[in-house]
Amino acid sequence: MAHVDRQAWDVVVVGAGGAGLRAAIEAREAGMRTAVICKSLFGKAHTVMAEGGIAASMGNANEHDNWQVHFRDTMRGGKFLNQWRMAELHAREAPDRVWELETWGALFDRTADGRISQRNFGGHEYPRLAHVGDRTGLELIRTLQQKIVSLQQEDEREFGAYDARLKVFQECTVTRVLKTDGRVSGAFCYERESGRFFVLEAPAVVLATGGIGKSFKVTSNSWEYTGDGHALALLAGAPLINMEFVQFHPTGMVWPPSVKGILVTESVRGDGGVLRNSEGKRFMFDYIPDVFKEKYAQTEDEGDRWYEDPDNNRRPPELLPRDEVARAINAEVKAGRGSPHGGVYLDVSTRMPAEVIKRRLPSMHHQFKELADVDITAEPMEVGPTCHYVMGGVDVEPDTAAATGVPGLFAAGEVAGGMHGSNRLGGNSLSDLLVFGRRAGLHAAEYAASSAERPVPDPLQIDAAEAEALRPFSAEVEADTGREPGPAENPYTLHQELQQAMNDLVGIIRKESEMFEALKRLADLRVRARRAGVEGHRQYNPGWHLAIDLRNMLLVSECVARAALEREESRGGHTRDDHPAMDRTWRNINLVCEFAGPQGDARAAEAALGQIRLSRRETPPIRRDLLELFEKDELAKYLTDEELSR
Ligand code: FAD
Repeated sequence: MAHVDRQAWDVVVVGAGGAGLRAAIEAREAGMRTAVICKSLFGKAHTVMAEGGIAASMGNANEHDNWQVHFRDTMRGGKFLNQWRMAELHAREAPDRVWELETWGALFDRTADGRISQRNFGGHEYPRLAHVGDRTGLELIRTLQQKIVSLQQEDEREFGAYDARLKVFQECTVTRVLKTDGRVSGAFCYERESGRFFVLEAPAVVLATGGIGKSFKVTSNSWEYTGDGHALALLAGAPLINMEFVQFHPTGMVWPPSVKGILVTESVRGDGGVLRNSEGKRFMFDYIPDVFKEKYAQTEDEGDRWYEDPDNNRRPPELLPRDEVARAINAEVKAGRGSPHGGVYLDVSTRMPAEVIKRRLPSMHHQFKELADVDITAEPMEVGPTCHYVMGGVDVEPDTAAATGVPGLFAAGEVAGGMHGSNRLGGNSLSDLLVFGRRAGLHAAEYAASSAERPVPDPLQIDAAEAEALRPFSAEVEADTGREPGPAENPYTLHQELQQAMNDLVGIIRKESEMFEALKRLADLRVRARRAGVEGHRQYNPGWHLAIDLRNMLLVSECVARAALEREESRGGHTRDDHPAMDRTWRNINLVCEFAGPQGDARAAEAALGQIRLSRRETPPIRRDLLELFEKDELAKYLTDEELSR
């Protein structure tokens, strides 16, 4: 094997979105030499695309807001499956994280009296999203990057080198977390431009790799979201939880086909946009579920009055949590009341003056004009559900963000599971990644500082990681597939087939027979993916990169399908056609996915059985003082009888 460069760091952060950058800042401020590695250019992560805002109960727009109300909304949104301690920490700490951003230079929109402005969003009782027009993620990342640069400038003054204690490796991908004696010892990486391999040695690795959307055909996610962190954790021996819960955002563009899935921010509804079907009806009033009946307006008049007088009226049902709105749109289209391109209409043009739309929703105005030739100040948008976010992720210890079972591994942001339960409220991701990014960085730093003897990566593991990464260049002669060797497979074809299968069979509405079919197709794709082959060389070869990513997408897709098959109820981002109701006996059950194979020569068996072992685990009881924040009648809708009697 060729020589592989090694560099020693204290903490390695995989991912340079909001969670990764916040973790890196914290680890570096704790005095640790910190490396950040990201697949794309520095500054281009999913977080940049976030439009609506950051949820934090600062109470600027409504003084009744506080962390307890935010906690309640988050638990309701997640249908009480949330890891309650994470939801508590998140609600308590989010305001500090927003104020901290402001001290680092973030320029939020203001209220008339000069405070940080907060807007309405689905499932939030009060206006709570701190925002910068509809470009909040861009400002968040710009601010964190600026903070990183300022820390690097400090290091230049002190040590004569900008990257003495904080270095960013951009356009580099991690393919394996390395372990020595059961503990994390580093990460195996390749540089996209040169194809060069290298190892970052460190006792602590923070996964902050974002989501999994690229396993689905219609998605708001960009090319990077191939579930890498989820797969890296699984392969390192850390379990994932809640993988059946995938959020389909109700409003993605449906036309033209080239942009299908691109997000239409929830702010459009938060700022007054309404949903209508082809008959012109505001259909959301027909889809208010019992658990939310008391909280939402029953008539259009009341819903409209709420925008002016929220204390004396209930909010319109367009602002129900995303899972409810996505299912309602799906049902309208299925019933033949959809728009010409298979969506429904979202209208702000009749609700706000053109100049207000352009000021509050500049990106949306631009996006529709440029991509669909639609002027949203004069006509409605056509929208439909798009795969947007994964609630499931790495099972972490709530206070420290430490991954279960793998000392030295931490996870924060979208790659971590538990915080959002079965459904995330809009705006709660940006706050999540600031709160838990900071905690992950802090605890990774503490862990690294306390590791007196640094584990050294095993050369055999490095060789194996290198061989695995290079396999697509010799796919045709590969005989080690558990089948007869066959012709090389095109990674793009495999990816398309995977996306189609996940969209059709494990998408927004699921049923048992289709998920069995999905698992069969995934098993077949997995065998074929071992023959995914590419031509050319290692310099900037996107086909090769995709061939490597396929392993991750297949692993996480299997987790989603297996968990979705097992959970025989409908809850949040998991809807079963054959089990349409929420079932209280599932309230406190987490489905846990662990990597089970392949081992030795058992690949043929693995093809049939899959690579994921699934088990059930009871969630810890919710602390009493937190339960007391809810009315007993409401708890009775969610908790099991045993929990209620306790
Ligand atoms: P990301 O920002 O997704 O960053 C992941 C990082 O990991 C990237 O740097 C990537 O290059 C890197 N990476 C991935 N794999 C590897 C690997 N193998 N090796 C090295 N690096 C790797 N949420 C809100 O709260 N409010 C909103 O208004 C909002 N709007 C949204 C709008 C859109 C269009 C989308 C798509 C999402 C929106 N979300 C919103 C969700 C939110 O943006 C994401 O959940 C959040 O930004 C995820 O942040 P993260 O730090 O976990 O990961």
